[in-house]
Amino acid sequence: MAKITLDNLAHSYLPNPNGEADYALKELNHDWADGEAYALLGSSGCGKSTLLNIISGLLHPSQGRILFDGNDVTHAPTAARNIAQVFQFPVVYDTMTVRDNLAFPLRNRGADPTYIAQRVNQIAAMIGMEDRLSQKARGLTADAKQKISLGRGMVREDVNALLFDEPLTVIDPHMKWELRTQLKALHHEFGHTMIYVTHDQTEALTFADKVVVMYDGRVVQIGTPQELFERPAHTFVGYFIGSPGMNLFDATIDGATAIIANTPVELGAGYASAGRLQIGVRPEFIQLSSDGTGIPAQIVRVEDVGRHKIVRLDVNGQKIAAIANEGTSIPADANHITFDPKGINVYANDWRVAPAGEAA
Ligand code: ADP
Ligand code: MG
Repeated sequence: MAKITLDNLAHSYLPNPNGEADYALKELNHDWADGEAYALLGSSGCGKSTLLNIISGLLHPSQGRILFDGNDVTHAPTAARNIAQVFQFPVVYDTMTVRDNLAFPLRNRGADPTYIAQRVNQIAAMIGMEDRLSQKARGLTADAKQKISLGRGMVREDVNALLFDEPLTVIDPHMKWELRTQLKALHHEFGHTMIYVTHDQTEALTFADKVVVMYDGRVVQIGTPQELFERPAHTFVGYFIGSPGMNLFDATIDGATAIIANTPVELGAGYASAGRLQIGVRPEFIQLSSDGTGIPAQIVRVEDVGRHKIVRLDVNGQKIAAIANEGTSIPADANHITFDPKGINVYANDWRVAPAGEAA
């Protein structure tokens, strides 16, 4: 296991990059703490695989260094980095049995045969393949082959890090939850440094201690699921995480008061930056009112999603969403909305602005 340091790292696939737009991975400095489980979350094409492949050595960065426990491995080949990587699609030896596929990384390192047999059985149980160990991989479904790939990634206990690149894509939906649980159990047992790439927020939030959110080649926030929910550092985090995502309102701000749709709104904290800004409020922090206080809003539709109701509203021509908890009645004559001040975040050019007095 190792701490992984990214030092001034950036990557362009072009031979002569000219400006930020040419970089698939914009400049990045970050430490992945030893033994922590991270999710790398972002939509397709934002640079997740590029970053993961640089860490594993499949790709050499056009700028910067990568260190494992302080040792520069920027130019070291994958084999010298002592890591396990599992990809989106299965990588198995078709002519080998499931058992031999799982044993391969251990035999390769000259492990003791008794240990190998015991470890292979343990991993087979984790991926639910105990009864197919003697079968050849050829002829198995893509789903079963991917489980073998996962097993092969998890079989070695002595790796510096385990890297997963959207490993559950071809896995049957009901098995996804099961395998994710197994990965978490493995993390608790061995404390590997793990990086798990996904575009699925539920997968990221349930797997990881810390979530690294990427957008357009840039890491926009690293935080716990709670931090990403309460204090999105970038409007993309607010929009991408949450269901529905954060609402954004154009506003002008003067001190602790914002003007949204010609209505004054108390922010609960003072802001030094004034002028044209945006206010982010998650649907969970918006209340409906029928006593004339707040911002004028018309209910467009109410969706019952079981745990709560999603209320779709129109505010000054803009579509927004509010969440009404189970048991909360939605007044038929509700025509205004108010915000819970603790759920308000302020943004300038998409980046969060800290209120006066907030601890850094
Ligand atoms: P993600 O894994 O988040 O979907 P990628 O890291 O695969 O994103 O891709 C990031 C960007 O780099 C995308 O715009 C993609 O088209 C581009 N890209 C990825 N691989 C290559 C490559 N081998 N050559 C050129 N461009 C690439
Ligand atoms: Mg990818």
